[in-house]
Amino acid sequence: MMNDRLKILFVASEIAPFSKTGGLADVSAALPSALAAAGCEVRVVTPRYGSIDRRRQKIVADETAREFTFEVRGRPIRVGFGRWTADEPGLSVFFVECGVLYDRPGVYGDPFTGMDYADNDYRYILLTRAAFELCDSTGWKPDVFHGNDWQSGLLPFWLFRAQSTGQFANARTLMTIHNIAYHGLFGFDTVARIDGAASYYYPEGPLEFHGQMCFLRAGLEFANAVNTVSPTYAREIQSGPEFGYGMEKILRARGDDVIGILNGLDVETWNPATDRHIPATYSRDNLDGKKLNKEMLCRQCGFPYEDEVPLIGMISRVVAQKGFEILIPVIPDILDLPCRMIVLGSGDGKLEQMLTEFARTQPGRFFFRSGYDEEFAHRIEAGADVFLMPSKYEPCGLNQMMSMRYGTLPVVRATGGLADTVFDADADPQQGTGFSFHRYHSQDLLRAVQRAHQTYANKSRWRAIQLLAMSRDFSWNRSAELYKDLYQSCLLQPGYSAPSSA
Ligand code: ADP
Repeated sequence: MMNDRLKILFVASEIAPFSKTGGLADVSAALPSALAAAGCEVRVVTPRYGSIDRRRQKIVADETAREFTFEVRGRPIRVGFGRWTADEPGLSVFFVECGVLYDRPGVYGDPFTGMDYADNDYRYILLTRAAFELCDSTGWKPDVFHGNDWQSGLLPFWLFRAQSTGQFANARTLMTIHNIAYHGLFGFDTVARIDGAASYYYPEGPLEFHGQMCFLRAGLEFANAVNTVSPTYAREIQSGPEFGYGMEKILRARGDDVIGILNGLDVETWNPATDRHIPATYSRDNLDGKKLNKEMLCRQCGFPYEDEVPLIGMISRVVAQKGFEILIPVIPDILDLPCRMIVLGSGDGKLEQMLTEFARTQPGRFFFRSGYDEEFAHRIEAGADVFLMPSKYEPCGLNQMMSMRYGTLPVVRATGGLADTVFDADADPQQGTGFSFHRYHSQDLLRAVQRAHQTYANKSRWRAIQLLAMSRDFSWNRSAELYKDLYQSCLLQPGYSAPSSA
């Protein structure tokens, strides 16, 4: 088996460009493709949400996988598979088709009310069940079932159940944590909806977390291997509740097998030399286009264009994790340096309101666009001088890597993947390609922005740092090789040593 092509079944609740709420979608698009290019045979399973149009996205009904029945509140529902027809050699993407559960405008919740869908338990029980149904009906036997975040947390549990009846005996599971703060917690009713779960649901048991059914815990307890998306985050989430969100003990109990593999970037989509979304392309050899992008971006946001005033960009879910609570108090100080700021993002209503208020009272200096806008995101990466990520925690983070590739120097808090990818230009002049601060505090954030501002005034130094940033390799190739090694080490494990039932 070990010398054959590795067969990987990759399950993810969002995949760009079909569905996306954050970095998981980028990873779920790029990693399977990089694994296929590295010689693996990869099948991806994801829901076909209402927003994914079959015709436009080149999805057809799949003839190879049988329909199956899934029970929702006692009612049997027919579930089928769609298949992406534009797939690459070694890579197939399957969409789980179940209108009753997935045909809605949002991915996890209602975009109008901001509330999670009340039946998310059914929706993600189905996703992981469908992965096994697909294998059963096509006779395809993966070496590794690879789940991502709580939405695929039941994948290892299903494999454990299957192996107890002799099925998929040689397969193993890997769980990747993209953000440990999201647990997938449900009430007691959910336990009865998961075949075989009742025996493993008891206080402190492998499916329970503070009196609730926990999908993430199921994944962490039953998986043969667990990893996360940067080495620093792997250490942080085991260090205590601040980063581990209550899962630290469960992770520590696994011994030292929780490792970090940095995400790569889709370097074709995020390439300033070929980017179709930006007014002017540019590269390391000729940065002239970047100036034009800044001019156009300033115009779009109603700012005057001034070369000597740095333009700071931010693209982010507007949630506490991303550092808005330390940023908001010092926005006036940052604007007074002087700088101009553009924020794109959506999320928490109160935070969005505060940003809207800044935009109203500081026109020409502060711009906020609420919403999700892929093209504007590219324009910000290309047109800004500085990119801000003051995250409280950051499992890996992609925007700092995109920014460096676009010669837009990041100011980051040194946590998780930000600590692993951005080295401070003052502390490390040889390798530094950004500015970082450690303490989660407004004044420390402000000082880092001040340092970026001072450095910006020194044109030749700024240019040298930009060129260094743009020459860094953030492609998936290296990480895909590390995932292949991790799959191989999963396969060396003796199968389940399952947590005990009650
Ligand atoms: P997270 O997964 O925590 O949201 P990441 O940095 O890993 O953070 O990934 C975020 C991804 O989502 C990036 O590709 C980023 O550009 C994109 N993104 C976030 N918010 C928006 C938005 N409002 N419009 C466009 N793209 C966005």
